[in-house]
Amino acid sequence: MNVKRNIQVSQPLLGETESRYMNDALNKGAISGFFGEYIPLFESEFAQYSDCAYGISTTSGTTAIHLALLTLSIGKDDEILVSTLTNMASFFPIIYQGAKPIPIDIESDTWNLNPALLEEKITPRTKAILVVHLFGHPVDMDPVIAIAKKYNLFIIEDCAEAHGAIYKGKKVGSLGDIGCFSFYANKIITTGEGGMITTNNTDLAKKARNLKGLAFGDTNKFMHKDIGYNYRMTNLQAALGHAQFEKIEIIIESKRKIAMFYSEKLNGLATLQLPVEKPYARNVYWMYHIVLQGKATNKRALVMQKLLESGIETREGFIPYNMQDIFIRKGWTNFKECPEANNIALRSFYLPSSPSLSEAELDYVVTNLKKVLKSI
Ligand SMILES: *Cc1c(COP(=O)(O)O)cnc(C)c1O
Repeated sequence: MNVKRNIQVSQPLLGETESRYMNDALNKGAISGFFGEYIPLFESEFAQYSDCAYGISTTSGTTAIHLALLTLSIGKDDEILVSTLTNMASFFPIIYQGAKPIPIDIESDTWNLNPALLEEKITPRTKAILVVHLFGHPVDMDPVIAIAKKYNLFIIEDCAEAHGAIYKGKKVGSLGDIGCFSFYANKIITTGEGGMITTNNTDLAKKARNLKGLAFGDTNKFMHKDIGYNYRMTNLQAALGHAQFEKIEIIIESKRKIAMFYSEKLNGLATLQLPVEKPYARNVYWMYHIVLQGKATNKRALVMQKLLESGIETREGFIPYNMQDIFIRKGWTNFKECPEANNIALRSFYLPSSPSLSEAELDYVVTNLKKVLKSI
């Protein structure tokens, strides 16, 4: 018996409450980003969940990062230290601001920025460290926080892949000055498109909220306080977010179960490096990211193709900043700047990681992956 499967790399978990809350917002005519009860509700519940006093929703993870930089007054020629291995959405907003991203190479096991490499990159122009909790595993924050204190730097957390991840008992998004989340369709929870910044700083929260809504004036609305942006999430999206938020722990538990299943079954293969969970971390395993090694090192395209032929969709890992043609051509970076990231970039990919995957489907993925790895 050969059942034709079609296992996608990621599908959101949507249900009846999503449509109920969205219809409620629609029926009340509360569809914009200025009115409606779901915006403050979703902002406060998500902020509280992330150990923060304030949550300010945005239109995407990218605009959340941009809003964080604007709020911290990061501008022309400021230098920001960033993990090189990430979605380039971590880098683009730095460039929008005329600031200069400085890529930091990664740890070979967590694939997160290596804190030991930060200090040598600090100059009088350095203003902030932007950490990325990649694939759901928190960055080792204590050394990052110590360096930020020593050199008086801001910490911005890119938590787009790590909602609910925990570092030494504290949620990501609360470990620096501002946390940035994405609610794109494939993230831990989704609003279709959307984002949020989180902070415990009252002044920063106030400034961010004003900037994201065109910086209208207090007494005279149309005497603007600043150059504003329209980064407002709509109440319709927040209604979706509220429904998703009710499931966040269920989704994370599913992701963790999927990861445990894969790790148990794939453990010990000479051809694979698997994700880790450090003693300081609760990894939320946004995607189950693996790295080919040994005789499979140069076979990523073939492995992915063979899996696809069996109805298993996979996705390549990120290409680091220092390998991006657009930045190399500008002379901002060079291929050799971050050797550890380069070393894994072209041999990594992720396996199907949807929270709805059944054990039979996971078993099918594992069986086929093992078969492919054996055959090459
Ligand atoms: C998805 C993602 C972003 C961007 O979020 P969008 O909502 O797609 O703009 C930023 N950083 C990381 C690490 C991401 O994975």
